[in-house]
Amino acid sequence: MQVLNGKELALKKRAVLAEKTAALIKEQGIRPCLVVVLVGENPASQVYVRNKEKAAVEAGFESRILRYPADLSEDKLLSLLDELNQDTSVHGILVQLPLPAQIREDLVLEAIDPAKDVDGFHPFNVGRLWTGDPLRVPSTPAGIMALLEEYGINPAGKKAVVIGRSNIVGKPMAEMLLAADATVTIAHSKTENLAQLASDADILVVAIGRGHFVGPDFVKEGAVVIDVGMNRNDEGKLIGDVDFEAVKNKAAFLTPVPGGVGPMTIAMLLEQTFQAAADTKD
Ligand code: NAP
Repeated sequence: MQVLNGKELALKKRAVLAEKTAALIKEQGIRPCLVVVLVGENPASQVYVRNKEKAAVEAGFESRILRYPADLSEDKLLSLLDELNQDTSVHGILVQLPLPAQIREDLVLEAIDPAKDVDGFHPFNVGRLWTGDPLRVPSTPAGIMALLEEYGINPAGKKAVVIGRSNIVGKPMAEMLLAADATVTIAHSKTENLAQLASDADILVVAIGRGHFVGPDFVKEGAVVIDVGMNRNDEGKLIGDVDFEAVKNKAAFLTPVPGGVGPMTIAMLLEQTFQAAADTKD
């Protein structure tokens, strides 16, 4: 079994991006600027936002985090997004999810200028992805596609099963694999005979949020297994949706947690922001 080392590839991609950023600043006078909007005190969100900021700064970007209390009104957030949309010095806008209950997530995502929507969650960008002409795309599945490419894994003609149908991972993942000519099945919590279905897959992507849910009975001999899950076990340790030790002798390629999909997500977010900045020179 070969480990798909997302940590290593992410570092490589970020180093390339730092060079491209230096050139964009020098030649065009454009410094990519990523604004992250954080509402409330969700501890996991605080960690994600700090990691994104650190990575953005290391790439040579301007990074701004706008922090608001959990009781921020929906109207205030929408008018703030309007200001950021108008601000030509801002290239990427990311609203950290989840949002407090009084704020409707769909309205907020639709309020971001699609060109600055570096998470790729705006319905415009979802449509562009599904019609085969992507503009900004969700970073997690994009990072997985980059990992497959790096290791010479071509999805064309392969059977792919994606477990999980969220808008941020499962659905865009399925579309990206389809665009790469895989034959794709999307599974979810109502899927019957899940292990049997999964064990037919050449490429198995698991994004469900259940620690070590996937064992060897889900995995075909020689399959590529991608673990998106980030869960805490009873000791507070970060674990994936896949039981790495239990499937490592069956899979041909496997992503670890941590060090697999997670670091790729951040690298791809930076790439999206760089692209949004570079697009403004046209
Ligand atoms: P989500 O919105 O909660 O969606 C979970 C999906 O899994 C749903 O479609 C659900 O089915 C399905 N599911 C849940 N239990 C299942 C079961 N027992 N059998 C089959 N399907 C099941 O989660 P998400 O946002 O996609 O995230 C999934 C996991 O990936 C989480 O652990 C999250 O922390 C992690 N994540 C990691 C990264 C990264 O960068 N590494 C990025 C994003 C997310 P239904 O639709 O039927 O409810």
